Amino acid sequence: MSITARAITKRFGAFTALDDINLDVESGDLIALLGPSGCGKTTLLRVIAGMEFPDEGAVLLDGEDMTHAHIQRREVGFVFQHYALFRHMTVFENVAFGLRSRPRRERPSEQAIRHKVHELLELVQLGWLADRFPAQLSGGQRQRIALARALAIEPRYLLLDEPFGALDASVRKELRRWLRHLHDELHVTSLFVTHDQEEAMEVASRIVVMNKGRIEQVGTPEEIYDHPATPFVSTFIGNVNVLKGHISNGRLLSGDWQLPLGEDTPSVAKGASITGYVRPHDIALLRPQATPEAAGLPRGRVHHIQPMGGTYQFEIAPLDPVELLDKSILEVELSRRDAAHLNLAVGETVAMQALTIHWY
Ligand code: ATP
Repeated sequence: MSITARAITKRFGAFTALDDINLDVESGDLIALLGPSGCGKTTLLRVIAGMEFPDEGAVLLDGEDMTHAHIQRREVGFVFQHYALFRHMTVFENVAFGLRSRPRRERPSEQAIRHKVHELLELVQLGWLADRFPAQLSGGQRQRIALARALAIEPRYLLLDEPFGALDASVRKELRRWLRHLHDELHVTSLFVTHDQEEAMEVASRIVVMNKGRIEQVGTPEEIYDHPATPFVSTFIGNVNVLKGHISNGRLLSGDWQLPLGEDTPSVAKGASITGYVRPHDIALLRPQATPEAAGLPRGRVHHIQPMGGTYQFEIAPLDPVELLDKSILEVELSRRDAAHLNLAVGETVAMQALTIHWY
């Protein structure tokens, strides 16, 4: 049950909301559409669902061209952030709704409907709430019922638009875990929209990063984090230190800093201006006197130390000149163990070594 978006462009008046989108979602995949507000995530979901039609391009479902097909032919189930359950219906009736609305010849018997609804309520682990009304449920329970309702029609595709957006942090976390388990059980090809990178990382098997109506990168959470394809992805996913400089002898020179670039370097012309991106956990801290090499490394002063549970975050003010973009402080993250081993205090001088740099 694959989904293919082929060269999709969607305009609203003079505004291009989707600009030449190409995407392949494999059968059984669980995909996150991730990006800042207004980048086109919901529009792409609506085009796949058949709630909007593209100006150019095609939507293929399981290989079949469905670009202009009616929404009901596409067999999609939906859950939206504010998709209110029917207030005057019990949980049971809400979940049964999709089955009861089917044309008469396709409608299951009353007994089959009962069986199916109870099965779904067991699946979302809320069988005990069947006779309640939506007003008597918590936010997290409502979203699980909304999901059960979407699944009732046995959709071939599940489209979720910020399904947990309105809930508080602890409930969201629980529901994310739960959605992943549910997907492992059912294997319905699923696409969910989020602007929360942590949510995308935690739930999705692959992430589609969007920006300004275009796809910046498609990859597993690890690929997106460890090998960001564009500057946008580097800064949008996770914390990052951004340095401006140029290349010389396989190094990034930025101010007085020299940072080794690794094996890809030869493809960049000597002297070319580049921007380097270094993740906080890709910087090692050393005491300047620790080794002869440490003495030659860029130095900084410990400005702030923040315990984060399993890790420690350090803010380091560079002592040797360096061209940092947007900030005057470097962020460094160490494991608890490394931090304990170094035993640094605010105001002390450290030497810094960048372990991995992405550059464009
Ligand atoms: P958010 O995370 O804020 O929901 P999004 O990435 O889902 O954002 P979309 O809802 O897809 O973004 O909207 C993309 C752009 O298209 C926005 O600038 C929005 O204002 C515009 N847009 C969406 N629907 C319409 C419409 N029906 N008419 C005009 N402009 C629209």
